[in-house]
Amino acid sequence: MKQLESYFGSLVFDDKVMKSRLSSDVYKSLKRTISDGKELDLSVANSVAQAMKDWAIEQGATHYTHWFQPMTGVTAEKHDSFISPDADGRVIMEFKGKELVKGEPDASSFPSGGLRATCEARGYTAWDPTSYAFIKDKCLCIPTAFCSYGGQALDKKTPLLRSMQAINKQALRVLKLFGNENVTSVKTTVGPEQEYFLVDKEMYDKRKDLIYTGRTLFGASAPKGQELEDHYFGVIKPRVQAFMNDLNEELWKLGILAKTEHNEVAPAQHELAPIFATTNIAADHNQITMEIMQKVAKKHGLVCLLHEKPFKGVNGSGKHNNWSISTNTGVNLLEPGDTPIENAQFLLFLTAVIKAVDEYQDLLRISVASAGNDFRLGANEAPPAIISIFVGDELQAVLDAIETGKPLTSKKDGSLKIGADVLPKLPKDSTDRNRTSPFAFTGNKFEFRALGSSESISCANIMLNTAVAEELKEFADILEKSKNFKEDLHELVKKTIVEHKRIIFNGNGYDDSWVKEATKRGLLNLKSTPEALPYYLHDKNKQLFISHAVYSEDEILARYEIAQEHYQKIVNIEALTELDMLNKDLLPAISKYTKYLAEAITVKKGLNAEILYENSQLIDITKGLTEAYSLKLELEKVLSNKPTTSVEEISIYYKDKVLPLMDEIRTIIDGIEAKVDKSFWPYPSYGDLLFGVR
Ligand code: ADP
Ligand code: MG
Repeated sequence: MKQLESYFGSLVFDDKVMKSRLSSDVYKSLKRTISDGKELDLSVANSVAQAMKDWAIEQGATHYTHWFQPMTGVTAEKHDSFISPDADGRVIMEFKGKELVKGEPDASSFPSGGLRATCEARGYTAWDPTSYAFIKDKCLCIPTAFCSYGGQALDKKTPLLRSMQAINKQALRVLKLFGNENVTSVKTTVGPEQEYFLVDKEMYDKRKDLIYTGRTLFGASAPKGQELEDHYFGVIKPRVQAFMNDLNEELWKLGILAKTEHNEVAPAQHELAPIFATTNIAADHNQITMEIMQKVAKKHGLVCLLHEKPFKGVNGSGKHNNWSISTNTGVNLLEPGDTPIENAQFLLFLTAVIKAVDEYQDLLRISVASAGNDFRLGANEAPPAIISIFVGDELQAVLDAIETGKPLTSKKDGSLKIGADVLPKLPKDSTDRNRTSPFAFTGNKFEFRALGSSESISCANIMLNTAVAEELKEFADILEKSKNFKEDLHELVKKTIVEHKRIIFNGNGYDDSWVKEATKRGLLNLKSTPEALPYYLHDKNKQLFISHAVYSEDEILARYEIAQEHYQKIVNIEALTELDMLNKDLLPAISKYTKYLAEAITVKKGLNAEILYENSQLIDITKGLTEAYSLKLELEKVLSNKPTTSVEEISIYYKDKVLPLMDEIRTIIDGIEAKVDKSFWPYPSYGDLLFGVR
């Protein structure tokens, strides 16, 4: 077997490759671009392009692509080969600096939310040199941002990079106040834990709902679900282990730090966690991870489901966004540290996050809103739709001591003075970590646990970075004017705790009493995507994005429209799939079964045999069939009568009229499935899907 060290990152044009292949001047100016965002001049870009091309060809690549993340939520690529004709009618392999730096995909079919009229369809892609180029399927992939000609962001990477700049700028101001003269840049870091399901491909291919929508729209529960809790961290089946081994190898070649793998709560559910990276790189890596998971699964005769709720009645899949802020000198700003000054700095950053999460609950909620995730949030398998923060008992005691001015422990005289006292050691999570909190402090980072499994992590981090940037800005504005830093710092931290402690909740988030308590505290409980999205357009949110140059007003409107339309399209596809399954497969199959029963009854009656079973089955199932049929007609009517007024109304209509009707039909059909002879049923069952990978 090949040594992991020898192939880790072998398909990445990383720092080691750059150092060995670029002249030292070119390397140095590229590094300056990477670390400080300095613009690259064309001669440097030409040298980098040449080296990249030579390296890529040696690795077997024939094409290159500007790899980007349009607002579809998946990645996009258009391959161009390196070939260029020479004078003798042969080809040479060429790749110029300007092709590296900028691309012009004909991008008229990507969602733009009205930012780009089709007549001026072309957008352009711009190289993100902070995320390394890599080779995938013989193609050199260059991570890029995607913008319109007016410079408006048409993707998920551009605003993410802007939000990282925003938090960098404000964090540097704050760090200066604490005397950190040698810190020149601050970046947020993310480790996204990814959940997924694996099902057998043969079974998957027989399920239209999985093929068209990624989730099952029908399916009676199997006799066994997750109640024995025997799957979580259970022994990994050989076929799944073979998939995981292959997946790891592919990810490692791409320089992705796949670290932890285990079985999750639901049968057939698994998780992969990488070691954390700078946020834009983590976002790129997570997109690649999701793609490679699906590819590798196919090789093993499996299909990887990334949907948030593929199966009713068992847990769905999420993504935990572990988030922190680090300096270029290697200091994690959410690490409490050992000295009074480190502790003081930590407390200021901590309270900035607390204030940000409280003031921008709505944006964080929006960042995890999707048709798929609506099935999880608040359903006692994932955090509630109410955003709150868990800090744990030890940190809570510190915050209380600051707020009340009372001593931290009974043994100590005097109250805790920020900047003068040393904080007690805080435990690094694991033991008392609260699994029900959407946003938990875990010792040196926050874990935002409400993300859906299929979503890009960009949106959540754009919101988080920008909101925290705003609070750091407000803090810096106050403290830069301060005449008595320590005193004013203490007052600021204390005031922030008092004003924003309502967002802190250390109890059980699955408990009904929390919903009541949260309402009392005035926290938002936005239960669904259509209810959450309109908050995007609130003035305070627009102001936030505009003032930190993360989104312009046009860009916010565009994103809002796209999110609303996306939700509507998803539900519409699901409803059409449900109708298709009913019309072509389910109702006919049930009808055939009733015919079979009726014939059995006739035959047995002729023999004077007992027909109790057949008769009651026939009555029961015919009743269900009739009910399902009339509800199906209603669903068809509801779909054709949808309003054409505002995007808000259309989304609410899908949520209130279409989804409940779909569920009602499903309940009836699932009830019938539980009773019908399996040989009549047109689809593999939940048992087949959830326990079929052996
Ligand atoms: P677990 O959640 O299984 O207990 P950890 O808490 O060690 O595991 O880590 C969970 C995730 O958090 C991992 O992806 C890890 O790399 C990431 N992580 C650890 N430190 C940081 C950090 N400073 N910034 C962002 N993510 C981090
Ligand atoms: Mg975790």
